[in-house]
Amino acid sequence: MKTKTSHKTEAGNYFISNYPPYSFWKPEFVDNAVIALNTEPNPSNPLGMYVHIPFCRKRCYFCYFRVYTGVKSDAVKNYADALIQEVKLYRGKKCISDRKPLFIYFGGGTPSFLSTTQLTHLFGEMKSMFPWDDTEEVTFECEPGTLTEKKVKFLKESGVTRLSLGVENLDNELLSVNGRSHTTKEIYRAYEWAKNAEFPQINIDLIAGMLNETESNWQKNIEKIIKMDPDSITIYQMEIPYNTTIYKRMEESGENFAPVADWETKRRWVDYAFNTLSDAGYTVNSAYTVVKDPAKTKFVYRDKLWQGADLVSTGVASFSHVNGTHYQNEHNLVQYQSRLRKNELPIFRALTPTHEELLVREFLLQFKLGSIKPDYFVDKYHVDVRSYFSEPLRTIANLGVLEDINDELRLTRQGLLQVDRLLQGFFLPQHQVDRLV
Ligand code: SF4
Repeated sequence: MKTKTSHKTEAGNYFISNYPPYSFWKPEFVDNAVIALNTEPNPSNPLGMYVHIPFCRKRCYFCYFRVYTGVKSDAVKNYADALIQEVKLYRGKKCISDRKPLFIYFGGGTPSFLSTTQLTHLFGEMKSMFPWDDTEEVTFECEPGTLTEKKVKFLKESGVTRLSLGVENLDNELLSVNGRSHTTKEIYRAYEWAKNAEFPQINIDLIAGMLNETESNWQKNIEKIIKMDPDSITIYQMEIPYNTTIYKRMEESGENFAPVADWETKRRWVDYAFNTLSDAGYTVNSAYTVVKDPAKTKFVYRDKLWQGADLVSTGVASFSHVNGTHYQNEHNLVQYQSRLRKNELPIFRALTPTHEELLVREFLLQFKLGSIKPDYFVDKYHVDVRSYFSEPLRTIANLGVLEDINDELRLTRQGLLQVDRLLQGFFLPQHQVDRLV
């Protein structure tokens, strides 16, 4: 396992969202994606859809996504038409055709950047091709300042089940220092509208360790969140990937470390949040999430995807996983739209993981929930993960963060708080990369 001499926040990716790492996905494997799409699906595997909206009012200084700002309404409409065209092309693919999605996720960027008129058009066309009647969960990410009461009501009436508010922090000064475009007034207003609309679930996203974050401000954030009483709260620890504004500033000033809290401090803040929220009645159900009512509040998207569900993603640079093949769309907007105009799926690079890589992928992703059930891997992969991963498991056991109890391998709280870092030790040797921190 890679060890670090310093725990200050260096530039690099910390969060593990997929496996094998994206740098191993290649244009020369795109034919694999075409074959996967033209093959009958596994009938027991659910289908999910992801819709990527790459527009934002302003680029946050910690943002590492490719986002477009200052985009005019006509360009947004053209993009929505491209998404619709992409969905149409999927209708013609054997692996997708008339399957009904179990879960749908609108992410970004900022999906709520679209106007109600644009959303009406997009949802209507999508539903005419892939009805939402069997869909258990529709998630819609929002930047609070882009919402109106009318838009919130429309989202609820359209079938959105989880409204996810990108709050990040509840201090105006701090929001501004980090380049967020919304204010706390907009957060509270949007939250009130969402509450009144009675969504089955309202989620609030927070980030621990933004620029200028302090112990006392973080604690106040948690107090304020408890008063708001959302159904779930997702907390990420601030990372500084290379394509962020913060990294550019570090490069210009010759700094090796980002001007944000070190990893121990960020973990302590998340631990504080988890403990305080638990005292207030919430339950920790992953390395990033607490929920008020575990029986009612599910994360279908996360849980199914982490068990290998098919995911068809539309939109620029989006990531799919179909019939055992990973692929990503063109990451340039012009290229993405131009290929769709030619009636081509805009797939840019792909990778078909081996059976072993799929096993590692599921193990890594499911460990982010805090525990692994070895029997699941025996049933699905015919592998005893205790012996297959004996070396990295021993390493983390020696750190005192692993408990092997009856039918599960469980991370302690300290293990859970640094799970993305620990998981790098479970990568196959050929996938150990330096750009992870
Ligand atoms: S709102 Fe989200 S996607 Fe948009 S710039 Fe900020 S962090 Fe990036």
